[in-house]
Amino acid sequence: MADIMDEARQTLSRYFGYEAFRPGQDRLVQAILSGRDALGVMPTGAGKSICYQVPALMLPGITFVVSPLVSLMGDQVRALKATGARPSFLNSSLSPAQQNTVLKRAREGWYQIMYVAPERLLEPRFLAFAQAAAASDGIGVPLVAVDEAHCISQWGQDFRPSYLEIAQFVDALPARPVVAAFTATATERVRADIVSMLGLHRPETVVTGFDRANLFFGVEEMGDKAKTVWIRDYALAHADESGIVYCSTRKAVDELYLKLAHALEPQGVHVVRYHAGMSNADRTESQVAFINDTAPVIVATNAFGMGIDKPNVRYVIHNNVPESIEAYYQEAGRAGRDGDPASCYLLWNGNDFRLRRYLIDREYDGDEFMTEVREFARQNRYRLLGAMEGYCQTTGCLHEYILRYFGDEGALGTDISAAQGGTADGSSAGCGACSNCTTPYETEDVTDIARAAIEFVRDTGGRFGRAIVADALHGANNEKIRGYRLDEVAGYGVLAGEKTAHIKDVIGQLIGRGYLVQSQGQYPVVSLGPHAVEALADSSEQPFSFTMKRRAAQARAKTRVQRAVDRVRSQIEAEQDLASAPTRPHVGDDAELFERLRELRRDFAAERQWAPYMVCSDKALRGMCRRRPLTRDELLEVPGIGEKKADDFGDAFLSAIRQFEDERL
Ligand code: ADP
Repeated sequence: MADIMDEARQTLSRYFGYEAFRPGQDRLVQAILSGRDALGVMPTGAGKSICYQVPALMLPGITFVVSPLVSLMGDQVRALKATGARPSFLNSSLSPAQQNTVLKRAREGWYQIMYVAPERLLEPRFLAFAQAAAASDGIGVPLVAVDEAHCISQWGQDFRPSYLEIAQFVDALPARPVVAAFTATATERVRADIVSMLGLHRPETVVTGFDRANLFFGVEEMGDKAKTVWIRDYALAHADESGIVYCSTRKAVDELYLKLAHALEPQGVHVVRYHAGMSNADRTESQVAFINDTAPVIVATNAFGMGIDKPNVRYVIHNNVPESIEAYYQEAGRAGRDGDPASCYLLWNGNDFRLRRYLIDREYDGDEFMTEVREFARQNRYRLLGAMEGYCQTTGCLHEYILRYFGDEGALGTDISAAQGGTADGSSAGCGACSNCTTPYETEDVTDIARAAIEFVRDTGGRFGRAIVADALHGANNEKIRGYRLDEVAGYGVLAGEKTAHIKDVIGQLIGRGYLVQSQGQYPVVSLGPHAVEALADSSEQPFSFTMKRRAAQARAKTRVQRAVDRVRSQIEAEQDLASAPTRPHVGDDAELFERLRELRRDFAAERQWAPYMVCSDKALRGMCRRRPLTRDELLEVPGIGEKKADDFGDAFLSAIRQFEDERL
């Protein structure tokens, strides 16, 4: 087995230029190579493709990769070709003549790997080809890899009926290949569906990679206007970096786009937008501008990004709250795919959650045939949103919260409830790479506010929402308060000295810790929770006390475009620098050389009509700047440069480096 894995590592290095598998990749590759089925649960960008591509490049015969992302197959194949592999794809974007050619070459054994849409599998001509290939005298079908495997489950968000045909396809082959499935979903039910409906045989299951240590996570609560200012400032401060700004609706995209373009274009920062309401041509133009680095900022709905493999996205900012942690992590995870430091900020306020609840209800309300299944689905959506709310409210480590949510093996052994409930006092060792761990907190005794809120909720029978309760306690004199005659309730105005927003925060914490509960639906009301009795039974023997962590005052002042992320970034880069210390003195500035090499890369990409990252990653360019290779062998030491890339572009990069240094000697 050691031999096979040695060969696998050589393949990884030869084609992709990487020295080692990431944790989990090796187990999946080893399982597949030794003939076992596999289930890889990893987030986007964690490196799922490598898990089936490396075996496909090693095993004799043709590997089929089933993928729903038809529009991306061309890109995937082009990127693989650039590494020197022999890939192909078969989908409806090819003319019948092209399809014939692909099938003919495939029969001759030319391809190592073929991407196919699920709809194609049972098509008679394709099935006949696959059956002949898998027959004892055929070219061989060692592996069927199923990408986005959650599409097989009706419990997921992207159910695809054609995925149900994959098992039939595998059964119809004369010799059963290894079947390997990949997904980023967290739901147990969906994972179980994948195993049973694909008919996986005791798969080697690896849940990993959710920890994206190079990502800095930040959560900031602020009003709608403040969000725009924050994003504008951030984009300006990082004008030379690529970033995606996500909004929840097309209208929000259009509005934010106009404001950002107005502020950024005069500074030379080109902004584009993307949503499903735009024409195909406009969308493609935006996407190409972003991928080719001519527009560093793209404002988009979640329609943008599926399968976009742009490795050097340095930040993803959410202007609104997504519907689930899965959705958030998939979108945020588009940052830093090259492994270099990148940032993910979520800006939120109560309006975001109101909108989300409205969208959920709109989808299910007025449904005369509201079945149990549909009601279950609605509750499920609320549950997913609840976890998102927990993420916004938690004062614990954000990395840890996410790992526990996904059940990542790296987080096992820790107490899940602390992260899921958003407890304020759940202590955390501190990752140094999220806004909660890098922000100093101070503890505040809010017992009086907590007690008053709980008593008020008890006295009014749990009929009001958080905002009204806070208003009444503060003693606001508005129409709603008078309409419900809350000014006549005992607790009215007892917290006149506290700001309403602060009272609301405390109520939020009481909800998070089970003293109060909040109903679901568009207009949630707050009622007593399981722990309320403890507060209400307050006595000298059993005193009730309630504290809350809040950002220290000086930290609050700094949160606008807080540069903690930059600190983390320079730290990591410095460590990397040490690890790859140059063997000879540097001539000239690395940043200048980087620009020179980047231009060269752009020329290569333009010639071939590729995206620049297909030539090589930013990371590889930076590696060249640090190491200043003189020979092909030295160039191969740079992470991300495999043999094929060294053959195709090596001489040009080496002479550009030499010329750059000569000019400065
Ligand atoms: P996924 O399919 O899970 O979305 P990809 O397979 O596209 O992720 O990989 C994401 C990025 O990580 C790519 O740029 C890929 O080249 C890189 N990558 C994958 N595996 C490794 C590895 N072992 N070492 C270094 N980089 C890797």
